[in-house]
Amino acid sequence: MNDAATQPAPPQAPPVKRTPLIAGNWKMNFDHLQAIAFVQKLAWSLKDAQHNYGEVEVAVFPPFTDLRSVQTLLSADKLPVALGAQDVSPHESGAYTGDVSASMLKKLDTRYIIVGHSERRGGHGENDETVGLKARAAANAGMVPVICVGETAADLEEHGAAAIPVQQLTAALTHLAADAEIVIAYEPVWAIGSGDPATPEQAEEVGRALREVLRAERGDAVADRTRILYGGSGASQNVASYMKQPNLDGALVGGASLKVDEFSRIAQFTKHVTV
Ligand code: PEP
Repeated sequence: MNDAATQPAPPQAPPVKRTPLIAGNWKMNFDHLQAIAFVQKLAWSLKDAQHNYGEVEVAVFPPFTDLRSVQTLLSADKLPVALGAQDVSPHESGAYTGDVSASMLKKLDTRYIIVGHSERRGGHGENDETVGLKARAAANAGMVPVICVGETAADLEEHGAAAIPVQQLTAALTHLAADAEIVIAYEPVWAIGSGDPATPEQAEEVGRALREVLRAERGDAVADRTRILYGGSGASQNVASYMKQPNLDGALVGGASLKVDEFSRIAQFTKHVTV
């Protein structure tokens, strides 16, 4: 018998725990008064449900014009809801009419910034380089870019589910420092707003591929701690099936994030996850 056979097995590293993030992308909905009312109701609903924000983080992404009002409410009432923005300029300051800089958003206690949403890639001609530069601007100013990646229906047919998201993430990483904290949102373009979400198995397959990119490009620690969200027709009836997948750590929610009760139920997905 050799020595190795008699040695006790080395202790296994405990599985990495990632705090799930439930993020509501309001898109171009709600003025600042509606935003205040919504966040108040959301906070009451989650308080009634004794929501543990340490166990499941909740974030809202209002339009720019609402951010100051929501920030003031969150701060005055000490509400543990995180604030996100839907876009950012890649530039620090200067002659960029209509743009909003990362430092302006940071001053409003913004924690997250969505970059690369398909509605900006498609509707505003943003390419991988712009997305990477925006992610960098957010990270350099001390915020966390939520980098959206996803394939169109034609991409899915031609390349399968993972190829385009992998390509988009790889391109974005080239603009970011090795230790930059990021969140990735896998959002198949065909699933957004369509009522036709990806299956949990497909979302998991892409989540796994994205984590492998992180592992190859950034190493185990970054790959193990980075949260990967699913987005695309997410709702309270389907969120639990994504959250059961080992490589999915939350949801980026569009339409369903505009209904207080529904968004609150999504945030409480741990109550409806069955193993
Ligand atoms: C989104 O646009 O980020 C999104 C996930 O939208 P929906 O939930 O409405 O599909």
